[in-house]
Amino acid sequence: MNFTMLHEQLRTSDGVLNFCQEHKLLATSKKCVTCGTICNLVTREDTSDGFTWRCTASICQRRLSIRTGTFFAKSKLAMACIIKIIYLWAFERASKKDLQRECGVKSAHTIADWKKFLRDICQDHFVRNPRQIGGPGRTVEIGETLFNRRKYNVGRISEPVWVFGGYDPTEKEGFLVSVPNRNAETLLPLIKKYILPGSTVVSDCWKEYSKGGGEGYRDLTVNHQVHFVDAQTKATPTHVVAVMWKAAKQRHKIECGTKRELLDTYLSEFMWRQTFGGNPFVSILTHIAESYPVN
Ligand SMILES: [Zn+2]
Repeated sequence: MNFTMLHEQLRTSDGVLNFCQEHKLLATSKKCVTCGTICNLVTREDTSDGFTWRCTASICQRRLSIRTGTFFAKSKLAMACIIKIIYLWAFERASKKDLQRECGVKSAHTIADWKKFLRDICQDHFVRNPRQIGGPGRTVEIGETLFNRRKYNVGRISEPVWVFGGYDPTEKEGFLVSVPNRNAETLLPLIKKYILPGSTVVSDCWKEYSKGGGEGYRDLTVNHQVHFVDAQTKATPTHVVAVMWKAAKQRHKIECGTKRELLDTYLSEFMWRQTFGGNPFVSILTHIAESYPVN
């Protein structure tokens, strides 16, 4: 589906409703929150959505917005407009200004909010489905890097944030996660969490892990069967991880802001695009439906 087709489908309230129900963004049935009776979907011209749920019990007849409990609940923006924002975000087709113009949104803050909501969806996805990379016979490169606050963010304390990452160059998949420090006690559990047993882990600091890690290191090598290789002795050094970080940092710089919790959502978006970049619109709609189940 291209943007013109989407625009065409979203021209009427019926079109928007059908699209949202088809992608499980809106419920197809509802029970009254007051009396538990089945609700009917009725047209209502005085609301921007054009529809509302109405309880079928004659003594109740309670009305309920079709947005209640959905991804759309947090906004008064027209749903057609939100879907267009999601589309343009998914295909990375538009700057903030383009998004404002194409979707008819006056406020740049509103666009920034929706991009944040979508990054939250990416993050939710990885929380629900923690991704592990590598495995027997596979190599994973790991390393750390510093993300710095933007230079002109003066007036705030400059606080660099460490990011730990891994990359499987064969499968071209990786993970990035912000960490409070680079201690072995911090990093070894993350290696166990994100890297599958049996992997060969290429690192330029595995000697540090073995020194500081103690039990954690032994557990990784013995129970988790992870085999550490020094980056210096390997033909492919950890430059692939560096490339992945560079890409993540570039995106990060464009989008601005480096509060720790914000940074995590940018990293999630980066990982999400690595995984779902081939079919981003349908994927993000699916993941929204998983984060906000409606039926
Ligand atoms: Zn009722």
